[in-house]
Order: sequence, then structure tokens, then C-alpha cells
Amino acid sequence: MNPHGRALPATDDADGARSWRELVNPRWARVLRLLDCDRTWTRGEGVWLEDDHGRRVLDAVGGYGAATVGHNHPRLVQALHEALDAGAPGMVHFGVPPLAGALARRLLELAPPSLHRVYFTNSGTEGIELAIKLARAFTGRPALLSCDHAFHGFTTGALALTGHDPYRERFGDLLASRRVPFGDLDSLERALAPRDVAAFVVEPVQGKGVKLPPPGYLAEAQRLCRRAGTLLVVDEVQTGFGRCGSMFATVADGADEPDVMVVSKALSGGLIPVGAVLARDRVWNATFSSIDRAMVHSSTFHQSPLAMSAALAVLEVVREEQLVERSARLGASLRLQLEALRQHHRSLGDVRGKGLMVAIDLVPPRPLRGRLESSLWPQSFVMTMLDEGGVLAQVVNQRSATVKFTPPLVIEPAEVDRIVRAVDQALGRIDGGALGTSLSALGRMARNLLRRSPAGAATAPREGAAGSRPVTPAAAPPSVR
Ligand code: PLP
Repeated sequence: MNPHGRALPATDDADGARSWRELVNPRWARVLRLLDCDRTWTRGEGVWLEDDHGRRVLDAVGGYGAATVGHNHPRLVQALHEALDAGAPGMVHFGVPPLAGALARRLLELAPPSLHRVYFTNSGTEGIELAIKLARAFTGRPALLSCDHAFHGFTTGALALTGHDPYRERFGDLLASRRVPFGDLDSLERALAPRDVAAFVVEPVQGKGVKLPPPGYLAEAQRLCRRAGTLLVVDEVQTGFGRCGSMFATVADGADEPDVMVVSKALSGGLIPVGAVLARDRVWNATFSSIDRAMVHSSTFHQSPLAMSAALAVLEVVREEQLVERSARLGASLRLQLEALRQHHRSLGDVRGKGLMVAIDLVPPRPLRGRLESSLWPQSFVMTMLDEGGVLAQVVNQRSATVKFTPPLVIEPAEVDRIVRAVDQALGRIDGGALGTSLSALGRMARNLLRRSPAGAATAPREGAAGSRPVTPAAAPPSVR
């Protein structure tokens, strides 16, 4: 039983956590320990998480933006119960799935009218893979174009488009692709000029670092792509369904006729993986061009009744609770309040975002610049937010010290205020004793590495196990999305 009296199927929480640390990802387990996140979340409700020690925390990460409707939204939970109770089989494949049809219709009602067909996926990166195939088949061109600092996923095709070298190292040659600076139309025009590019794949707001292009960038990119015979593939995996204060951030920026759109995260309700690729019919037809090509792209797990039910319920909640408008309103309030903190804190740099995708840059206090601790104190900042402010946030890039907030869109104004208070408090700790705070956080991280796990389990991995090399505090934790 876990602390809430629910029976777990095969193990108890402590055993499961111990096994996960040892068998699944020992290195990430160590990073989690370093960051005071070596805990098991036992409950989630709305924007709130509760851990195995009964500590309640406001979730401003929101499952990397997937928990749009909040954790365990009752409408979503009910829909999943109903889907199970209905007794329909999943993954039969030789039959016509009505829930998938209903979801496809709903998605196309929401999407720009240039899109006519839907293929369901289990993740965002999988959607990008199909988008690449559709574009290459349609244009007959090999090259792909994406943006510096873009993130499109970890499978090898999507990775070829991802503008972060550490993610690509050691994996050999990836698909032929080029990159242009995000937001720079002249570079885009030059890159398209050889007319060899199948697709320009772009996020309307770059999730990593929350980078916004100049207004109208996507509308003009669409025009340039059209002129060059290149498909515009918009990656709305993170931005879609209200995250940025509009149903789709691409459309809000004037690109209202994309050739392919990839969505995922929010559709899952944070519970069941699901994504979709929406495409023009003639683009889709170039891949699925005949009966013997009807299954040239597919997946065992796609369009399962549970995934389809989850997504349909999420879209209902987004509509009924007006989450798109809410995201615009509360996102603006969050940014405004964070900007106001700049008057009191030297360590607060840029505040930016759209809707409830918001980031702040931390400015290293002078004594720390260029020192070992400068890469660690952003982590110490989010640790302070968690420990003292009770808010879970993430550092997206240890080099630029950007802290990102993507809370569920069901967040209440008072909960937005709580994020602001936690930021204020953590900034105050930096301003109040830059070097001391950082060094004490460094000490805390070192202690975290040495201490035993909260469940009292020995965390030293077996001899020769993957995690047996000690992680030194100097190794900054990896950046996350
Ligand atoms: N595209 C964007 C813009 C993303 O933010 C992500 C994930 O963070 C992906 C693609 C990959 O999605 P997934 O993690 O579901 O594979």
C-alpha cells in the first residue's frame, strides 16, 4: 500500500523507487538527489502535487507542459473510467475506431483549414518523424531546415532538427539538415533559395529557453516557404491547445495555412500518451498514395481507445473551462508580477513568455561570474523555490540560467501569486548573500549526494552498475525541456 491506502499492483512504493534508482536510470536518480527531488509523488490534483512525506508543492513544470488541464482532472478521470468500463478492445487494428474518428474531426475543427488529415501518435517526437517523411515524399527533396536552439525530440530524425549539440553527440550521422537563426527571415530566405529543402520545421515559441520570434515571423516564413516549394511544418507539441494564450501559437502569429502541424503534450491530460500529425490532403496522399502504401507508416499503439478518450476529454475541458483565455490572462499577470520584481532584485534579468509559458533569466551576481558556482546557483535557485516556496520549477539551460514555468492552465490567480512569492523569496536569498547562498547550496548538493535515499534504501549502486561513478557537484545537472 502507498501512504494513501491505495494498493499498488506489484510492489510497494519504497521497493519500486529503490528498483527505479538502480535499474532504470541511476544517473538521473543521482541528479534528482542532488536537486532535492529524490522523492515519490503520490498524489496530484489540479496544480498540486503531494510527495511520500505529505509535502504539498505547486507544480509549475506541469509535466513539461503536458498537464494542461491539471493533474487528474475529474472529467478526464471519468472519461478514462468510462472507456475501460465500455469493454472495447484496444489495438485490434483490423476495424474502424470511432473514438479516433471523433477526435480527428474535433482536431480539424480547431486547426487551420489548410489541414485535412490526421495521423495519431504516442509522442511529439514520433509526430516529427512522420512530418519529415510526409515532406520528403511530397517534395522529393532531401534537405530539412530547422532553427538554432530548436527542440523537436530525441528520436534520430527529430534529433537531426534539434539545435542542441550535446543531445546529438556520439550518435553518428543524422539526417541531412541545416539550421537558421530563429526569427531571422533573411537567413531563412537564403537557406530556402537552393530549392532543395523539403520542410522548414519550426516551433512558434521555442520551448527551450522560451524564445519568442519577432511578431509576424511565422506568417512571413509561410510566404517564403510557399515561394520556395518548401513545406511549413509547425511544431505545436508544446505550444498547442492554449499553452501560449491562443489555441495554436502559429495561427496567432499569422501563419494560418501550415502544411503540417504536429501536436501532443496537452492532449494527454498528463495521463495517457497521445499526439497527432495534421496534414494537407495532398501532402498526406503523397505518402499514403495507394492501397499497397496504406500502411507505410503506422504504430502498434497509436489511436488506442484510452488515448483517444483522454484527448477528447481534454479538448472538452479546454473549451468548457476557457483555458485558452485563462492562459492568456493569467500568463500576462504572471509576467507582469515577475517584471515588477526587477525593481527589488539585481539578480532578475529578462522576463518573457506567451500565455502560461513563461521564463526568467537569472543574472549571476558579480562575485560568482565565471566561477564554478555560477553554473550551480540557478539549480540552487529552483531548490530554494521548492524547499522554501513550495513551488516546483525547472532550469532549462544551465549556461543561460533560465528558469521556466509551464503550470497547468487551470491555475488560480492566488496560485500564480504563489509562484511570484516563491521567485521573490529565492531571488532575495541570492541578493542577500550571493556567494554564501551559492556555496551553501553547493554544500547541500554535496550532502544530497552522500546521504541515503529518503526511504532508507542504500543508494550506492552495485559494483560495476551504470551509476557507480560518483557525480561531483561540479557536474552541473543536465538541462531539461
Ligand atoms: N517538439 C517540441 C516543441 C517539444 O517541446 C517536445 C518535447 O518537449 C517534442 C517535440 C518531443 O515531444 P516528446 O517528448 O513527446 O517526444
